[in-house]
Amino acid sequence: MDRPTFALPPIPPRVHRVLLFVAMRSEADPIARALGATDGTARIGDAHIELLVPGADPVLGVDRLGPVHAASALARALCSARPDLVVNMGTCGGFESQGLGIADLIVVRDAMFHDARVALDGFDALVRAHTRLSPSASQLEAVAERLGARTGLASSGSSLDATADELALFRRTHTLAKDMELAALAVVCREAGVPLAALKGVTDLVDHHEPTHEAFLRNLTRTTDRIAQSAAAFIGQLV
Ligand code: SAH
Repeated sequence: MDRPTFALPPIPPRVHRVLLFVAMRSEADPIARALGATDGTARIGDAHIELLVPGADPVLGVDRLGPVHAASALARALCSARPDLVVNMGTCGGFESQGLGIADLIVVRDAMFHDARVALDGFDALVRAHTRLSPSASQLEAVAERLGARTGLASSGSSLDATADELALFRRTHTLAKDMELAALAVVCREAGVPLAALKGVTDLVDHHEPTHEAFLRNLTRTTDRIAQSAAAFIGQLV
């Protein structure tokens, strides 16, 4: 369980095109502003950055967040043009027991699903999709030091809250970040053979008594500002 089952390709020496996936518009706006991406595109060094945000659901009007929409939006985007690197930035739940606090940053080493259970050989590993992302150990260390971030495991699921079993799993696996998209993006990137890196910022503490959605809303601006301030340095260090 502790060792990733799958691995993504390394980041190539020359990165010309980066697809930057952000799940929510409220997360994407400050990142776009910080990168000067008024038309959804920006440049960092030699790399062209294109922002990908799933946007609002046409029926409900709310952001299409979560693993299904993330996979669907990325798979569609990869059909039209192939990036050298996919980057995911966004908010996450963090863990007080791991020494994390609000607005802390995590450079993700590996990602998995925590709400996928199939008690059959092979299928359990398939649905958990525990995947080592593309940055090497030295890239992780360098970028984390530059940003003052931690490096470690992120876990994704379809829910903002967490069950008691999931809390026990997070403890056992030393999970640092809980989100709703990254492991799904990792599945798409593995199937397409495209490298993936991720930067997460803590909006709420999963192992704290305050209801997650209240903390999330209160800390959203502060945390997305911190991610936005670090966005260019994160991408610049990897390309
Ligand atoms: N209630 C919010 C919706 C946020 S859902 C609103 O009204 O806008 C959570 C989003 O932030 C997802 O895209 C997810 O990736 C991230 N996230 C932040 N904290 C999370 C947590 N504790 N668990 C899962 N996802 C979290």
